[in-house]
Amino acid sequence: MDINSKLPDVGITIFTIMSKLAAEHKAINLSQGFPDFSPHPDLVDLVSDAMRKGLNQYAPMQGVPELRRQIARKTAELYGAKIDAEKEVTVTSGATEALFAAISAVVHAGDEVIVIEPAFDSYVPAIALNQALPVFVPMTFPDYAIDWNRVASAVTGRTRLIILNSPHNPTGTTLTGEDISALRDITSGTDILVLSDEVYEHIIFDGRRHESLLRHPDLAGRTMVISSFGKTYHTTGWKIGYCVAPSRLTEEFQKVHQFLTFATNTPVQHAYAHIMKRRELYLGLAEFYQQKRDHFVALMKGSRFKPLPCTGTYFQMMDYSAITDEADVDFARRMTIEHGVAAIPPSVFYHDGRDHKVLRFCFAKSDQTLEQAAELLCRI
Ligand code: PMP
Ligand code: GLN
Repeated sequence: MDINSKLPDVGITIFTIMSKLAAEHKAINLSQGFPDFSPHPDLVDLVSDAMRKGLNQYAPMQGVPELRRQIARKTAELYGAKIDAEKEVTVTSGATEALFAAISAVVHAGDEVIVIEPAFDSYVPAIALNQALPVFVPMTFPDYAIDWNRVASAVTGRTRLIILNSPHNPTGTTLTGEDISALRDITSGTDILVLSDEVYEHIIFDGRRHESLLRHPDLAGRTMVISSFGKTYHTTGWKIGYCVAPSRLTEEFQKVHQFLTFATNTPVQHAYAHIMKRRELYLGLAEFYQQKRDHFVALMKGSRFKPLPCTGTYFQMMDYSAITDEADVDFARRMTIEHGVAAIPPSVFYHDGRDHKVLRFCFAKSDQTLEQAAELLCRI
């Protein structure tokens, strides 16, 4: 049977490949991004309570109202944005669903979408399935900054959307005020929309402020901001995220969302609505992960890996060029099998497989896991 694949170039994601390889070889898994510790016990209780209370049927398509109100409240407190919880918030089945719904809602066949590389792996397949064209702009290396001159020259009359991600996976960099100004210059007076992937919004280090696009009303007016509870509450397996967008964009977004998943897990939404009231849990996340970053980097001082700057996310990029000139994909594989630690090769996040001889390590792990991993890595 000739299936005639709609995604002929897409294979199994690197996260699945590396986590499987790590499991097969009993390696410490610092590849796929997920915590190896538990969520807050109260959050687990809140989900059970919601289930016991009988909150087990379909949630409203847009999301549980109290959760949408909490999202709007948090957004106002942190970013000064006045968000209408009724018309501008949609709860989704993970940020992954939100990204797909956002791209599908606004991108037409033949449109161009600017993708900054390295790019999280779900963006390009979503663009391709909508028969649009990704236009790739590489970040600079080794500082992984956005080259806005290159973004400006990538813009054409067919540019529909620019996708941004800050704090950025896999590089661990974050947008600055200058980036925001450059984005404003490029988009003002155009119909270009922005998709801002802010799933690591609370994981930002060294006193920096998260440059949410929601801080900037002129830009927020053309932007769909995506976030994920999985990163904030150590619950990546619960798969709940959300999209905040102006009402006209939210209308279009919900047209897709309602037929993609219709609605999202009810008891978990109720639990998040409760736990969000405890501001210290999300406000304390930056400090929590900053300590992990610092611990991991200090442990790696005795190794031949060289850390690159990490200002946000729970990923640390490490230059391994002092060890080998193997391709990152090969080294990541060999390191898992021979040295017992799995990491992600970032070349897979470039359409041209660009290889800078760095690996991405996830430090959302217990101190013990990080110490065991660093001990093995220091021997390489
Ligand atoms: N965007 C980025 C940059 C991510 O790292 C992730 C985490 N995998 C997602 C989106 C998807 O988030 P979720 O697990 O909520 O679907
Ligand atoms: N966001 C996680 C990472 O970057 C994993 C995503 C996934 O497994 N799809 O590692």
